[in-house]
Amino acid sequence: MPLLQGTVGVEDLVLLEPLVEESLLKNLQLRYENEEIYTYIGNVVISVNPYQQLPIYGPEFIAKYQDYTFYELKPHIYALANVAYQSLKDQDQDQCILITGESGAGKTEASKLVMSYVAAVCGKKEQVNSVKEQLLQSNPVLEAFGNAKTIRNNNSSRFGKYMDIEFDFKGSPLGGVITNYLLEKSRVVKQLKGERNFHIFYHLLAGADAQLLKALKLEQDTSGYAYLNWDVSRVDGVDDASNFRAVQSAMTVIGFSEEEIRQVLEVTALVLKLGNVELVDEFQANGIPASGIRDGRGVREIGEMVGLNSKDLERALCSRTMETAKEKVVTALNVIQAQYARDALAKNIYGRLFTWIVNRINESIKVGTGEKTKVMGVLDIYGFEILEDNSFEQFVINYCNEKLQQVFIEMTLKEEQEEYKREGIPWTKVDYFDNSIICNLIEHNQQGILAMLDEECLRPGVVSDSTFLAKLNQLFSKHGHYESKVTQNAQHQYDHTMGLSCFRICHYAGKVTYNVTSFIDKNNDLLFRDLSQAMWKAQHPLLRSLFPEGNPKQASLKRPPTAGAQFKSSVAILMKNLYSKNPNYIRCIKPNEHQQRGHFSSELVAIQARYLGLLENVRVRRAGYAYRQGYGPFLERYRLLSRSTWPHWNGGDREGIEKVLEELSVSSEELAFGKTKIFIRNPKTLFCLEEQRRLRL
Ligand code: ADP
Ligand code: MG
Repeated sequence: MPLLQGTVGVEDLVLLEPLVEESLLKNLQLRYENEEIYTYIGNVVISVNPYQQLPIYGPEFIAKYQDYTFYELKPHIYALANVAYQSLKDQDQDQCILITGESGAGKTEASKLVMSYVAAVCGKKEQVNSVKEQLLQSNPVLEAFGNAKTIRNNNSSRFGKYMDIEFDFKGSPLGGVITNYLLEKSRVVKQLKGERNFHIFYHLLAGADAQLLKALKLEQDTSGYAYLNWDVSRVDGVDDASNFRAVQSAMTVIGFSEEEIRQVLEVTALVLKLGNVELVDEFQANGIPASGIRDGRGVREIGEMVGLNSKDLERALCSRTMETAKEKVVTALNVIQAQYARDALAKNIYGRLFTWIVNRINESIKVGTGEKTKVMGVLDIYGFEILEDNSFEQFVINYCNEKLQQVFIEMTLKEEQEEYKREGIPWTKVDYFDNSIICNLIEHNQQGILAMLDEECLRPGVVSDSTFLAKLNQLFSKHGHYESKVTQNAQHQYDHTMGLSCFRICHYAGKVTYNVTSFIDKNNDLLFRDLSQAMWKAQHPLLRSLFPEGNPKQASLKRPPTAGAQFKSSVAILMKNLYSKNPNYIRCIKPNEHQQRGHFSSELVAIQARYLGLLENVRVRRAGYAYRQGYGPFLERYRLLSRSTWPHWNGGDREGIEKVLEELSVSSEELAFGKTKIFIRNPKTLFCLEEQRRLRL
């Protein structure tokens, strides 16, 4: 398959002429319209969501990609997965596959293609089949509990996921470890119009038989549940009932016992029922507002299901105990506060259940100590987000993307330049934007925005979102990547679109305005102790285990880390992990906003191409050489193409290669000879060599 094909554009954007945004978009569009959804930039795969099943997947294609080298077949995720797996196996190099793009661009599907490719080609022996099954079956379980229908994607992952798949020295899979990031807990209690709660609630109601529904004290009709947005109870293409059976069987394959599955479903049901606990105004004798529960049936049913005294639950929902060194003071909550407490409890139960499920899966697929030798990491994480209203969630998500961009810059660009330097090859410096100044603005230990937020959360006295903002404005008034209404001066245009409660960060991908309202609350993520103590009193083993801090004997006065601090430290661990591996990139693009096949919106793609830094990526690729290989292996592979070097060659590797390339009249413009490696500028040249080699074999 030639790399340059007139009708479907170039397969590698390195070959693009002229190298400008317009031609890049045209090329992607032309290919997309010809159902060629994959395009390379060197070894980076760009994937444009086809929104239709293309006949390019499955065992036949897997077999094909396994037998060819990277540039020989059409661009494909399988080709990237193959390179990653082969280098892991043959060159003993840990790999990571970073999949980025915005919601609905196809990241999760791409990660599943990678996993199924690797599962198909690795360790053919019978005994590893169960490991593969467990790894693959973790997907439907995590999707049921962590995905939801949103306006942008009917099956949107509402959490970030990183999975390390571990192999033995022969390349057979041994197991894995999954890390989850920041589940969107707020969805449990509230969804936007046209969106749904997490899939599992609908799966459960549609798929459970009468007996199970009765045991869980649930009714099948979704409209009976306050936490389910009943304007959408069904999603095109999603069969909730059959998915419910699939989730149960996947859990069984992974190793959940029947008892564990039942407990998970009970806790899920508990969340739904909690949403229906209706809180109403009450007044204390002295006229001070308090709250109570309208109809005791709901809390009684919850109490029966999880072995909890319903009076205890009611008390925990409607009052707060303040402890000082000397005494305990119980105050009544008004109805707004009680509703807040109920929703906080529901979000916490669900969020902790999700983490428990991830940990439980990890326990099953864990590798024994001392066994593993090689690792392939797959990262499927939310892309850069700019919504109409950006809050704490967008702030941390974009921070994570800023860090991933930093990895990309450092690993791709710097490594590229450093390798040229090491090899003594001349290099024209490519200027690129170093985003560490933005990363620092957010994450600096003392003076970063996250540190300021924590400081504000822990400070005694009256703290509020606006005192937090005032602090930022004071500290960053001169910072080149920070703007707000009060810091705007001659440098920045006064902008009427920015509210007083907002600040703006100039991210690598563009400016984003964040509204600080509820930053403090979301960062604190505190659950009042009355609630955790009530949960811990339940007889239900799983529910109880989710609230260890509710144990009065263990209750320490030490505050748990804030949401921001937790996220920052898990991002730091992730970065360290990624830096220790060889990166492979899949950049996903969403062609239109309507989840429709065949529609390519240039404007929409242009924005994503900018966020992904595609043009910059091509520029760097082009400034250098697309392919490089050590002299030894290169000569070994192509020796047979020259009579001087085949069948015998007694000279040095480099001289041998010179002979081969001379004989094939490869232009010297195309080549550079480094200290240990040969560099080839154009992928086409390599393709020709491969072609000749194949003819010769
Ligand atoms: P993301 O994880 O980036 O939010 P998904 O991977 O969930 O996006 O993809 C959204 C939807 O797009 C999928 O549910 C599927 O319908 C469709 N899709 C994505 N990639 C492909 C593909 N390679 N082939 C067919 N359909 C796809
Ligand atoms: Mg996803």
